[in-house]
Amino acid sequence: MTTTHWLFGDQLGPHFLTPGPDGPDHDSPVVMIEARSVFRRRRFHRAKAHLLLSAMRHRAAELGDRVRYVKADTYREGLREAVGSAPVTVHHPTSRAALRLVRSLDGVRVLPARGFLVAHEDFRAWADGQAGERLRQEDFYRWVRRGHDLLMNGAEPAGGRWNHDHDNRRPPPAHARTLDVPPPYRPRENDVDDEVRHDLDRWERTGEITFVGRDGPRLFPASRREARAALRRFVADRLAGFGPYEDAMLTEDPVLSHSLLSSSLNLGLLEPIECVDLAEQAWRRGDAPINSVEGFVRQIAGWREYVWQLYWHFGEDYRRHNALRHHAPLPDWFLELDADAVTARCLATVLAQVRDTGWTHHIPRLMLLGNHALQRGWDPAAVTDWFHRCFVDGYDWVMLPNVVGMSQYADGGRMTTKPYTSGGAYVNRMSDFCRPCAYRPTVRVGEDACPFTAGYWAFLHRHRSRLERNARMAQAVRGLGRLTDLDELLEQERQRGDEPP
Ligand code: FAD
Repeated sequence: MTTTHWLFGDQLGPHFLTPGPDGPDHDSPVVMIEARSVFRRRRFHRAKAHLLLSAMRHRAAELGDRVRYVKADTYREGLREAVGSAPVTVHHPTSRAALRLVRSLDGVRVLPARGFLVAHEDFRAWADGQAGERLRQEDFYRWVRRGHDLLMNGAEPAGGRWNHDHDNRRPPPAHARTLDVPPPYRPRENDVDDEVRHDLDRWERTGEITFVGRDGPRLFPASRREARAALRRFVADRLAGFGPYEDAMLTEDPVLSHSLLSSSLNLGLLEPIECVDLAEQAWRRGDAPINSVEGFVRQIAGWREYVWQLYWHFGEDYRRHNALRHHAPLPDWFLELDADAVTARCLATVLAQVRDTGWTHHIPRLMLLGNHALQRGWDPAAVTDWFHRCFVDGYDWVMLPNVVGMSQYADGGRMTTKPYTSGGAYVNRMSDFCRPCAYRPTVRVGEDACPFTAGYWAFLHRHRSRLERNARMAQAVRGLGRLTDLDELLEQERQRGDEPP
């Protein structure tokens, strides 16, 4: 009997159909299922729903007669409708829920995961060999570099150093409103997008499904061709400047030199190896400096791989961790992406970016959105859900380590050595947000007190006993003793409550 291969919506590149012992049969028929229940379960950003459906439908159009594309309520129903009880193969899905589902279905054989550099069993062997409680991302990254011969000169790291962070992470150039780089690749919409928009409008009109955020022109690739064009354009125009301003934020230039490739990687339109290979070639040709290329390779071969592996390594319970016992619900203004309600210019700017595009770069996610949630004591599971729903590149596997671990410290330090939190001084140094803001980054009490500065001290106070035992936080906690206005500050923060800052 013919075996059909099932493609999930984040398995859209050609590498998911490469035949072999660990892959589908040669020329096997393909099934794709658009399950409406996915959109009913969570209130997604509309631009994200648009991108996902557009990418799936673009792939179906490419596969032509080879694919049976089913619109169903659930995956289970869709699969039954498409293949009945015939045998099916599927590559290891990217979420625990989807893995449970495919394992529970008769006749479905689960093949190894694709779309990542490191196989699960290789990671397990590496993790078993590590000393100490915490798996160090830097050690993992160097192991991946060696194992895949990435940016290496023999046994040595190319450029003589493993880590070029020292040359990266600069504040934005003084007085610059934008970085002087060509604009990023943006796709052109086509009739597939028209059809998707028509469907989304209909679902919203009938009240069947609701979304958050705005669905402007599609900004991210929905096909392999578009994703390759975006990658090539990034390497040609922006990679050289990627490193120095990786952590900078500019009001009028949300993208700076970032690649905007996360959604393409996470939809499976690009393979990580082709991204890092092209970057390395640019360095070898002399087209991009080592600090930028190493910084980019670190993001993909280091961070992205590490996060993927940790999702499985940390286990099912990880999503429920709440080490800081934060239980406050997310306020409506945040849930609704109501940037206009916010006075703090930094938060208003990035919340508007999320509302309008479903994307903002790493530092606004970590040091503004996540930092604010942490300081306010919002429930980490609800914060995780918010990021998952509102970002075009958000998936369960990437959300949990990044939000529960890195951003909310809800795992008590399994992923990072200390909570990522800061006051307004950091935002002021790394951005142009503060100058025209109604709040002053140096002020912690009073009408013009910066919400991040006041929030920082209130957070340290709230978790004083835990944080003073952390070598990397102890000095900051001692700073609390020098605050003569701490009581006033705490009362101010209590009164501010959940009001938009
Ligand atoms: P670049 O800055 O150009 O980096 C290149 C690539 O590196 C990215 O495309 C991405 O694939 C990868 N990468 C870098 N850091 C990470 C990381 N920590 N985890 C996974 N991949 C990484 N990334 C997502 O892909 N999806 C998410 O939903 C997501 N949510 C995040 C939530 C929080 C709170 C934080 C702190 C980080 C999150 N990240 C997420 C990681 C990172 O912020 C985004 O990958 C990045 O901002 C995407 O923009 P870019 O493609 O321009 O990335």
